[in-house]
Amino acid sequence: MEFSQYPVNTLLSITNRPPLVFTEGQGMWLTDHTGKRYLDYLQGWAVNCLGHSPQCIQDALVSQSKKLINPSPAFYNEPMIELASLLTGQSCFDRVFFANSGAEANEGAIKLARKWGRLNPNSDGENRFEIITFHHSFHGRTLTTMSASGKAGWDKLFAPQVQGFPKAELNDIASVESLITDKTVAVMLEPVQGEGGVIPASREFMQALRALTRKHGLLLIVDEVQSGMGRTGSLFAYQLSGIEPDIMTLGKGIGGGVPLAAMLCREAIACFEPGDQGGTYNGNPLMTSVGAAVMKELIKPGFLQSVKDRGEYLGARLSQLSEKHGLQGERGEGLLRALRLGDGIGSQIVEAARDMNPVGLLLNSPRPELLRFMPALNVSNEEIDQMIEMLSDVLTKLGK
Ligand SMILES: *Cc1c(COP(=O)(O)O)cnc(C)c1O
Repeated sequence: MEFSQYPVNTLLSITNRPPLVFTEGQGMWLTDHTGKRYLDYLQGWAVNCLGHSPQCIQDALVSQSKKLINPSPAFYNEPMIELASLLTGQSCFDRVFFANSGAEANEGAIKLARKWGRLNPNSDGENRFEIITFHHSFHGRTLTTMSASGKAGWDKLFAPQVQGFPKAELNDIASVESLITDKTVAVMLEPVQGEGGVIPASREFMQALRALTRKHGLLLIVDEVQSGMGRTGSLFAYQLSGIEPDIMTLGKGIGGGVPLAAMLCREAIACFEPGDQGGTYNGNPLMTSVGAAVMKELIKPGFLQSVKDRGEYLGARLSQLSEKHGLQGERGEGLLRALRLGDGIGSQIVEAARDMNPVGLLLNSPRPELLRFMPALNVSNEEIDQMIEMLSDVLTKLGK
């Protein structure tokens, strides 16, 4: 079928999509409507942690869909219990609330913190509701999570914002301390800022933040929607800095491609009462069975070590590429990495890589001077080499 034959104008335009329709995916590869193949370093935006259509997800979907799809969130089901047990067993958290997207999980975290701040008021008996977040952070696209995000321009878009999210500077503990008032209830951050350009919070900063929040009786919330589920080579990125947060949100990789997210908290702050939080699809067995299948792959002996190894290999190859083409180096953790271009040629590279023949390369440029790499966690060294070669060709063509 020709692209022009697809009635794409029936879709609300929300982004500049290229004139391609993807029809199949397997592992690190996608195929479009003409049969052309692409090496995929987006993986559904760091979502397909085991690549496109892995066997374990196919099996979970088929077998669970034959048994039970949705008894309603008002009842327990087996996959929901299994996945919650796996998540609490592998983390410092005791309780799990399942959601359908990262933004919804973050809304849950914000609501839980505000509820806790009402139950634990300041010395004047007033609600505490302010949550300190960070410039350049990204927490989702609902009105509240957009207000919590530190993306430039988002304070004006869809104004007025939801109030109560003062912004500090990442890796600057004094900037956090200066924003603490008697209304503050929590600090919320991404352990590695993803959309902001793959900027890790330092180990020292995370430790200082934990000490500061303890000292002032504040909750520490980590948004691990992008950094969690093995992406950094650790199951959760907070574990890299040896601290224990109070609340964590997960999304993206937790479903391996299907819509699933989670908000985890410690027993001591699990203060929701019936009616406070819910949602029609929350914890449905079809999606949580996939989450359990994904989680079991990630915790197999050696899996996370292999993510670390592949992350180091990708980092080393990107460094070489940077040197060869006179770029500004690379950074990141595990298999969440960025290449600093020096010039704002990110979108030119993305287009040229995609349009290469006979096979294309799918890349992401969250900022004009940066490329971000978020391959499947089981990407092979050969698939890394192939990407580096293709990217090198593109850079040469663009005169770099
Ligand atoms: C993607 C992302 C979100 C939003 O998740 P959605 O599933 O798109 O709602 C929130 N926080 C971080 C850190 C993300 O990377």
